Amino acid sequence: MLIGVPAETLAGETRVAVTPETVKKLVASGHTVRVQSGAGVAASVTDSAYQAAGAEITDQPGAFSADMVLKVRTPTESETSLLKSGAVVIGMLNPFDAAGLQRLAAAGVTGFALEAAPRTTRAQSMDVLSSQANIAGYKAVMIAADKYQRFFPMLMTAAGTVKAARVVILGVGVAGLQAIATAKRLGAVIEASDVRPSVKEQIESLGGKFIDVPYETQEEKDAAEGVGGYARPMPASWLTRQQAEVAKRVALADVVISTALIPGRAAPTLITEDMVKAMKPGSVIVDIAAGKGPDGVGGNCPLSEADRTVVKHGVTIVGETNLAALVAADASALYARNVLDFLKLIVTKEGALKIDLEDDIVAACRVTQDGQVTKK
Ligand code: NAD
Repeated sequence: MLIGVPAETLAGETRVAVTPETVKKLVASGHTVRVQSGAGVAASVTDSAYQAAGAEITDQPGAFSADMVLKVRTPTESETSLLKSGAVVIGMLNPFDAAGLQRLAAAGVTGFALEAAPRTTRAQSMDVLSSQANIAGYKAVMIAADKYQRFFPMLMTAAGTVKAARVVILGVGVAGLQAIATAKRLGAVIEASDVRPSVKEQIESLGGKFIDVPYETQEEKDAAEGVGGYARPMPASWLTRQQAEVAKRVALADVVISTALIPGRAAPTLITEDMVKAMKPGSVIVDIAAGKGPDGVGGNCPLSEADRTVVKHGVTIVGETNLAALVAADASALYARNVLDFLKLIVTKEGALKIDLEDDIVAACRVTQDGQVTKK
């Protein structure tokens, strides 16, 4: 099969959908791989490294006019016009982007959005949300440590003792867990909150303290269990109590990393402006949910601004929306392996396309086919 790999064009998108490692495997399986010149540069992969792995280097139309196109982000309007009708596109196609899906359907493209894969054991090796959120959690702590004007670890020196930083993590999914692990390695004291009761043990196993907000009604309990491992919006009663508990911790915190998301919905507001005002000067918030707040404004904190770092009420608020792209080489390496594993589900050993909708992962990821948006 002819596989094309275009360079990503979205501002700030540094990742690429294949690496020399995955190209080598695709070529060994009998595929022809055409990579757009420069596609890997921002992820420290040169054209010659791709060539050495067996890829051909091409231009943008060459990369898009393939039987199968491997992308990181949804093709733009002009990129979509370069796709062949009947081609397969695999990437983070954003299943909630109705306009983007409609565009792909109208182009006659069969699209697979990898973010839609179920969170099951079998799907783990192709779980792009996990591979990229893991990186985002790590990078959020790295950025916080860089912006924070004090140490993370407790230090006892001849010039006196330095206190350990107090870090509060809000939302303990994949990103939050990695943020806890990373901050812990740097020596911080950690407290964390999530709506799902199952995370308490995970937080404690990483050396953090769970901010407990007991459920008082069956409705609260049911909502907290979520669906498919994902959170559901919590009743206002619980959120009010959570906010009171979180506010106490945030007021004492040096760093807050917030990662709370609910798929397909606005991110919940967890750090209000009053809470920011109560924080110590020089504290840092990294809002991974920036740009995903109500009506696209703010994130878990209404003061955060997408892709900007701002100082408000003496607190530095980082609103970077694509943290994984700031660790471009490893983010690409893991993403490329996710893509390669997904390909094994839709390409036979003989190299032919075979879309088996009986396969729950294939069915969940398929978002367009035969001119239709098929996403359920
Ligand atoms: P996510 O990015 O959708 O959300 C981040 C976190 O925010 C979640 O833990 C969520 O519970 C939390 N959250 C939502 N509202 C909140 C609020 N008001 N206050 C505090 N926290 C709030 O989550 P994710 O990282 O994609 O993980 C989703 C689920 O998938 C988790 O249960 C995770 O363990 C599971 N998972 C399973 C597998 C697997 O089995 N293969 C792989 C990865 C993730």
